[in-house]
Amino acid sequence: MSSSSMPYVIGNWKMNLDVESAMALAEASAEIANETVDDVGVGIAIPSLWIPLISSEFFETSLLVGAQDCSPHPSGAYTGDISAPMLAPWCAFTLVGHSERRQHHAEGDDLVQAKLDAVIAHDMAALLCVGETQAQREAGNALDVVGEQVMRAAGHLDSGGLRNLLVAYEPVWAIGTGQTATPGDAQAVAAHIRALIAGLDAGAAAAAEVPILYGGSVKSANAADFFGEADIDGALVGGASLNADDFLEIVRAARGSGGPVVG
Ligand code: PEP
Repeated sequence: MSSSSMPYVIGNWKMNLDVESAMALAEASAEIANETVDDVGVGIAIPSLWIPLISSEFFETSLLVGAQDCSPHPSGAYTGDISAPMLAPWCAFTLVGHSERRQHHAEGDDLVQAKLDAVIAHDMAALLCVGETQAQREAGNALDVVGEQVMRAAGHLDSGGLRNLLVAYEPVWAIGTGQTATPGDAQAVAAHIRALIAGLDAGAAAAAEVPILYGGSVKSANAADFFGEADIDGALVGGASLNADDFLEIVRAARGSGGPVVG
């Protein structure tokens, strides 16, 4: 099985930019999104503080505005957290389970699942991030580790939930390091993820349509190599999404990848 999803290129700004630069980059990203709207879904996962501002300013564009994280709880005594019902009026999607959250905030698969459920229950798409560490890859465990992360977070979804799921395969050792997986290795993991989804009760029909992105040091120079792979439907882009020219080139590479492939 291969993908029938349109490609998505999603920028992850992490905890970067001041408000003026954020507005300027959002404007440039919205122009990119408008230019490629028929062929590529273009989004940005931005610091929570600016979500209402940027979402309302660019509401009429094709830019998908998203959050980087979300509380599993709807409300209550959770100082510093932001809930799915708070995000939902402004966000098309939310990242869940990014490796920097898993690493710096000790997020495990049960919490990631609860966050994913909260996001989907509030009609946002959940972009589930999964990936193995260097040691896990060297031990030959990449497929098992990633497969377990996917199944623990999303293995219970029904067909409605799967329609709101995107997955980003991001090897931990490739994030922000300048190292990437080989396109062939990334394809092998993406195909494994798709096969696991296809094996779910609700997955047989939905699996081909779940966008599976690659992330980890994607740049304009290497993006097309990943987008040429049958099960890779775009990229989650950190550092290079902070430069509008680089981001545009990556989106153009996704457009050039030929759009949906039915297999
Ligand atoms: C990320 O933050 O998800 C990411 C892939 O970062 P970078 O592109 O900088 O490696």
